[in-house]
Amino acid sequence: MEETIYDVLVIGGGPAGYTAALYAARSGLSVVVLEKLAPGGQMSTTGTVDNYPGFHDGVDGFELGDRMKKGAERFGAKSVFNQAVEVDLTGAVKKVKTRTGELLAKTVVLATGAYPRELGLPEEQPLRGRGVAYCATCDGVMYKDKTVVVSGGGNTAVDDALYLSKLCKKVYLVHRRDELRAPRSRQKVLEDNGVEILWNSKITKIHHGERVNGVELTDTKTGDTRLLPCEGVFVAIGRVPDTALVQGQIELDEGGYVVADESTRTSVPGVFAAGDLRAKVLRQIVTAVADGAAAAHFAEEYLMEQGG
Ligand code: NAP
Repeated sequence: MEETIYDVLVIGGGPAGYTAALYAARSGLSVVVLEKLAPGGQMSTTGTVDNYPGFHDGVDGFELGDRMKKGAERFGAKSVFNQAVEVDLTGAVKKVKTRTGELLAKTVVLATGAYPRELGLPEEQPLRGRGVAYCATCDGVMYKDKTVVVSGGGNTAVDDALYLSKLCKKVYLVHRRDELRAPRSRQKVLEDNGVEILWNSKITKIHHGERVNGVELTDTKTGDTRLLPCEGVFVAIGRVPDTALVQGQIELDEGGYVVADESTRTSVPGVFAAGDLRAKVLRQIVTAVADGAAAAHFAEEYLMEQGG
């Protein structure tokens, strides 16, 4: 790769990353976005997005990601589809190694987001796509008229179970405690939609042939186990920030999220954190794009302080 020193290097091409790129490029800064897969990040696997203002009929998450990319590129931001494998954020010139080279920049916006937490069972990953899924709106349609289990007790698990209840023959919600983390009112909504909640239960094994055909449930109080036949397992037990790349270089909280206030400034000068990887209360597309705008603003301010 070339030895250009960009003003702003954005790692992660989701809503936060491409908004930072749009604002920075529109301010006349040289910008590169490093994205490992496709624009849109987590949003691109969301199906219809109904809570992003301006799209009264909803908008496809993949399409919105692509639009955000094109919007930033219109002002000169460059996209590089490659994976960041190592970073050195300490100096005035930040270095980001990819699988095939190195990118240099005066500022870095971290916007790598978060990914679904796994159950941690050995058979889980090999069965991904063959009965194990992490996104009901993406994969639910493949389980039409089938029996599925949703693991988790938060709002995501409740939303997933409700979504699946419209498609599937039977939906079980398996939760490790006797009370949802989601608001109590949502329990009734689940029950009204035919979702059966299995309290004090954990999935401790996934049974399968070529595909999933059941789960072993362990009672978290008694330790008793039982087999529950099912064709799908939707894991909805929270998310993990994608911050392994910067661990040891910037301050992270106990959950691994980057510590930064609304200015998105991190503990390292010239490094900003935007979107779901930042420690904050509400993780939504609109809060991610707000972070992206702030990151570009404060990156520009930092560059001016450093003499441009
Ligand atoms: P969350 O609120 O952190 O809930 C995760 C759930 O998974 C908890 O019930 C937790 O159990 C369970 N869990 C965690 N690790 C587990 C493990 N190893 N094995 C079994 N169960 C495990 O995560 P989320 O539901 O993804 O939501 C994330 C944030 O987005 C929340 O602030 C949520 O309110 C918000 N959100 C809002 C909406 C909405 O408003 N419609 C929709 C989706 C998400 P415990 O309860 O026992 O800890």
